[in-house]
Amino acid sequence: MAKKRIKRNNPIHILTVNCGSSSVKYKLFSFPEEKVITNGLIEQIGEEGSSVKNHHQAIELVIDRILSLGVSLDDIKAVGHRVVHGGEKFVEPTIITDEVIEQIRALFDLAPLHNPANLEGIIATSKVLSSAVQVAVFDTAFHSTLPNYAYIYALPYRYYEKYGVRRYGFHGTSHKYVAITASEKLKKPLSKLNLITCHLGNGCSVTAIKNGVSVDTSMGMTPLEGLVMGTRSGDIDPALIFFLQEKESLCPKDVDKILNKESGLKGISGVSNDFRDLLKAREQGNQRAGLAIEVFKYRLLKYVGAYAMALGRVDAIVFTGGIGEHVKEIRDYVAKAAKKVLKQSPKILVIPTDEELMIARQSYKFVK
Ligand code: ADP
Repeated sequence: MAKKRIKRNNPIHILTVNCGSSSVKYKLFSFPEEKVITNGLIEQIGEEGSSVKNHHQAIELVIDRILSLGVSLDDIKAVGHRVVHGGEKFVEPTIITDEVIEQIRALFDLAPLHNPANLEGIIATSKVLSSAVQVAVFDTAFHSTLPNYAYIYALPYRYYEKYGVRRYGFHGTSHKYVAITASEKLKKPLSKLNLITCHLGNGCSVTAIKNGVSVDTSMGMTPLEGLVMGTRSGDIDPALIFFLQEKESLCPKDVDKILNKESGLKGISGVSNDFRDLLKAREQGNQRAGLAIEVFKYRLLKYVGAYAMALGRVDAIVFTGGIGEHVKEIRDYVAKAAKKVLKQSPKILVIPTDEELMIARQSYKFVK
């Protein structure tokens, strides 16, 4: 029997990098098979007692780990960087140039906790992997299709013009990934699908997708708006901020910390921001843990209901993220209400998200 000829091309590896303020998450893929070669996390960057002083050192550590697997750096053809805020400027994955770096820097005001760390990672990686294409993939990009009536706040319009105060939305890479996967599962083109995608992890957001594009989403100018989250309040009456400042003699920074780090599931329950802990505590009779779960569910239900009205027809409601994938009680609660109220019951899908794969796929397009 004639031997099959195996065509040997040089491997194409794509590295994804997700830099937080004190962490770097990375994943190395082989394309076009989309096979994961390795992944990992470096934490406590710059913290007291840590041997990793900055993002540059962290990236060097990532490179050492990759080299120790026998991978040649020349085979890494692209690096896909997660960048949280793309403002109105970046509506799709973008090859990083000096100009793009300056534009990401100009967005620091809109995402002071995220964009600076993202940029550190970009600069460090560009130095070490200088021959790879560096690509920025923005969390906000998928939501660039929001109509203006969905993104304008009812504030004096000059703040939008002056500072870009508007709703942007986040988790876009995740919402897009699960939407594409849903269209594969439903065997229907994405451009013909109306979906409500619920990303329920530590951060939580819901997106209304009409004919494949995002038309509304629950996070706003920052990732604080919308659903109840692990430690974030989501929607509140804005007047509460002044009330708390006055009653507790707090400065804006204190309130910012309360709303971002001490609220949400953790704030209501006083137990934990972790959903698993709340389920356990409720079982043991802890009423505030039970209340936190009810508030979480009800806020989600209201958003799904509002988006169903905005969409008119809902083909499927998709759940992803640790809570979305694992807590059946939440999916059933939403599904039951949808079945009662909507003319046609939407399909309920559970799709584990894979933001890294989505970033890698989008970066691979530039290599091809
Ligand atoms: P991140 O947003 O940081 O990626 P995840 O998507 O992993 O977070 O989601 C974290 C949340 O999912 C936590 O509240 C966690 O308790 C919850 N979670 C993860 N696994 C389960 C599970 N098996 N049952 C209930 N909740 C879970």
